[in-house]
Amino acid sequence: MTAMTVIPSTQTGLPTEPYVGRHFINGKWQDSADGETFERVAPSHGVVVSRNAKGSEVETEAAIHAARAAFDSGIWSRISAKARAAVLLKVADLIEANVERFALIETLETGKPITQATGEISGAADLWRYAASLARTTKGDSHNTLGEDILGVVVKEPIGVVSVITPWNFPFWILSQKLPFALAAGCTCVVKPSEMTPSTTAMLGELLDEAGMPPGVVNIVLGYGQPVGSLMSSHREVDMITFTGSTAVGKTISAAASGTLKKVALELGGKNPQVIFADADLESAADAVTFGVYFNAGECCNSGSRIIVHEDIAEAFTARVIELSRLVAFGDPLDPRTQVGAMVTPQHQEKVDGYVKAAVAAGAKVGLGGDRLKVPGLKGDFYQPTVVTGVTPDMAIAREEVFGPVLSVLTFRTMDEAISIANNASYGLSAGVWSENVHTVLEFSRRAQAGTVWSNTWMDGFPELTFGGMKESGQGREIGSYGLEEFLEVKSLVMRIGRTRAPWVKAL
Ligand code: NAD
Repeated sequence: MTAMTVIPSTQTGLPTEPYVGRHFINGKWQDSADGETFERVAPSHGVVVSRNAKGSEVETEAAIHAARAAFDSGIWSRISAKARAAVLLKVADLIEANVERFALIETLETGKPITQATGEISGAADLWRYAASLARTTKGDSHNTLGEDILGVVVKEPIGVVSVITPWNFPFWILSQKLPFALAAGCTCVVKPSEMTPSTTAMLGELLDEAGMPPGVVNIVLGYGQPVGSLMSSHREVDMITFTGSTAVGKTISAAASGTLKKVALELGGKNPQVIFADADLESAADAVTFGVYFNAGECCNSGSRIIVHEDIAEAFTARVIELSRLVAFGDPLDPRTQVGAMVTPQHQEKVDGYVKAAVAAGAKVGLGGDRLKVPGLKGDFYQPTVVTGVTPDMAIAREEVFGPVLSVLTFRTMDEAISIANNASYGLSAGVWSENVHTVLEFSRRAQAGTVWSNTWMDGFPELTFGGMKESGQGREIGSYGLEEFLEVKSLVMRIGRTRAPWVKAL
């Protein structure tokens, strides 16, 4: 095997008992009516991390009814934004007080390194705080220029009951990109985490309860896409769905929602290009490319999974990325030195490997890695840091979401060619450009079809900056003030001042 940095397991830090996950409906913890459960096994260590109630139509219906009743009662939707913000701020404090406990379970359910899980959980607290601040700045418009006898006011209202469906790759972070914003707007929610990573979402129920969230405002149902997610997408008592996950499931949800024309916000996949011009700070670019492809083992909608490098520097640049890749610490997620952990399932590991093997069969070359990774002391599902060169834009590895620690290297000669290759994907989530020339950076940034364009950096994010995708990467936006707006309805109030309305009916 090619030399790379592997952190063996010491098998320390594992919890003694699995977490027991139950549904949280109308402020009460409950098992499934039929007693069904499911388990999540840690992809790194092979131990059972959680044993969870498996939701059916019964629990999903109950959760939706509870959210509907809570919304209609006004217990949350009609109280002041100040009161809502106070609860969200308490939740943020409680998240911070529980970072360690949450991070351990998140690490074991996802396979991600403990340092990263810790950063995500504590960072999520800031999303709750930011949403609390937005709650109090929500406002509409007034029109005082419509004539002396008319005043027009545009008010914002919470959209209603929101279904929140989340994926397994950043379970608590993505939940926190959605839930506090929906709550800040005054909505009530039914939440379903991925069946692979249910625990930190269930644990959030404890914190909501402690923070004084009224019963029924947030309801959590554990279980699978069928039947839980499916019913949450089609139920007529739900007003909106906010979903993060695969493009394929996003399309299914859109179709299911069409029966009642609910609003659908989708955060889907990406095939994110970084274009590296010859005049760039190449050392910084190489480090950011290495980070972009291996962060979260590449199981990341924002993965910088393909680079488009000017052909004059492509060979030297790729060699540097390979050199840096050998230094990235892959291995036991519980070791604080580890930077890249396990793949989420053996099936997913197989899929990633399939992309690499198909690219090689189509004429690409493996510059590093290209196979499963053995981590001493662990039987789990790891994949080697992998760099594939000689990739052409028609190959599946250049167009489809691989979702693994696999970098595809393509080359270009002119700006037009770079933009054409960058935009040649059905996705449009994020893109990046590396150059010291401001004209180059601005031209690329304006022509890239992506919801976020980074220049001379990669994956910097802030609660203030909105996030979302173009094309098949989704619809709607999350975080930032646009993130809150998604959960608001707009209503015009037209008010006549005085008895000035001219009668329409005329007696002939
Ligand atoms: P997934 O689409 O398989 O599952 C996501 C969620 O949808 C899970 O909770 C699942 O149980 C549920 N689900 C499955 N079938 C359903 C159905 N028919 N109706 C309703 N819900 C259903 O996605 P995943 O494998 O968990 O996550 C990986 C995907 O998420 C990748 O494609 C990735 O790019 C995407 N993602 C996007 C972003 C973003 O912000 N754009 C962020 C993270 C992940």
